[in-house]
Amino acid sequence: MNRLVIENAHIVPVVGDEIPSGHIVVEGDRITAVGPGAAGAVPEGAERVDAAGCLATPGLVNTHHHLYQWASQGVTPDGTLFEWLVASYRLWAGMDAEVVSGAATAGLAWLARSGCTTSTDHHYIFPKGRGDLFDAEIEAARRVGLRFHPCRGSMDRGRSQGGLPPDDVVEEMDEVLQATDDAIRKYHDPSFGSMLRIAVAPCSPFSVSGELMTRSAELARSHGVRLHTHIAETADEDEHCREQFGVLPVEYLDRLGWLGPDVWLAHCVHLTDKDVARFAETGTGTAHCPSSNGRLGAGIARVSDLLRAGAPVGLGVDGAASSEMTPLAGEIRMAMLMQRARYGPRALTARQALEMATLGGARCLGREAEIGSLEPGKLADVALWRLGGYHAAIDDPVVAFAYGQTPPLARLLVGGRTVVADGELRTVSDAEAAEQGARAHRLLTSGDHS
Ligand SMILES: [Zn+2]
Repeated sequence: MNRLVIENAHIVPVVGDEIPSGHIVVEGDRITAVGPGAAGAVPEGAERVDAAGCLATPGLVNTHHHLYQWASQGVTPDGTLFEWLVASYRLWAGMDAEVVSGAATAGLAWLARSGCTTSTDHHYIFPKGRGDLFDAEIEAARRVGLRFHPCRGSMDRGRSQGGLPPDDVVEEMDEVLQATDDAIRKYHDPSFGSMLRIAVAPCSPFSVSGELMTRSAELARSHGVRLHTHIAETADEDEHCREQFGVLPVEYLDRLGWLGPDVWLAHCVHLTDKDVARFAETGTGTAHCPSSNGRLGAGIARVSDLLRAGAPVGLGVDGAASSEMTPLAGEIRMAMLMQRARYGPRALTARQALEMATLGGARCLGREAEIGSLEPGKLADVALWRLGGYHAAIDDPVVAFAYGQTPPLARLLVGGRTVVADGELRTVSDAEAAEQGARAHRLLTSGDHS
């Protein structure tokens, strides 16, 4: 059983007041105490961690990713979303379980290195006869040691049906629904402290039929699992939805029964005032991915408006091929800067951005009772950031953490287990994860693995 006592840290519990010098006690996979000064009762045999000079935050939650894209980074570096997708589909059609395993290992290791303790993944391409891709990424998450929410994605609307992807990378609707049902039955663990939960995630309005969207929602709701998709990412998508469906993207989703407290949506860049109000009244979550939105020139999401309206907002790095090498902690800074560039210097504070990266993400995943803040009874997902050295020139530890380059991790705990210590992975090795990612890239781009 894990037993740790962290002392002398500046603690930002996210819920409740900050503690300038305090302690966190961990027993098993839970936090049992958080408070000022030294720990009162120290569990027998506990490891004592002197966190003087460290900032303690909840582990970060990544609400949107496509791990397989680690293998196709750097493709179409200057294209729009649709140009980039069309070029990437050809490459992705050749992926197999080996590519996914290597890409997911590197992608998850990279997330852990920037303080992530819970990650989603949205996998929506399943080329036939190339092994069990979904299982490959679940196994990678087990090895790296992160809490994982893989979303069984899908596409059934190829070019011949007015969609964007070529016909040979889409699936039939019935096989999608069967495979999704199977994945939920096989893997989904709804228990408190779960390391693995499944969500249902048709890819986007321009690659999925309305019927698959509706039936996916029915399937998810019959199992009590969550729903996820991409929406309102670019102006091209607005145009596509107007032409094909006669309405804007969010109105289209609303019509399909796809807004609600069990739904979180990636991007949400192009929202009307009515959309913002609908997100708030239905409790629909947003996965904000500022680096990816910048990389593809998609625009700047209305995050401060969504937060003001009371809608859940989390942060996401998005697939590695549309935001190469993006560290999750760096998205705190990126989110803050992009909101301020558009709405002024008070649009999003460092503390609000940190809350988005933790409790906001937990709300998107329906796990705010378990993760996202440092409180007794919650899971021991904790990041300790080392603020000495160059960072010591800034007094406010949250400003030091959020404004410049992210400080190194002294420790990252997932359910009390050490995943990163002194900036290095302790589950798989950094060298192994990096090599697996590079190998996945070589396999996918050389096409000699099939
Ligand atoms: Zn995405």
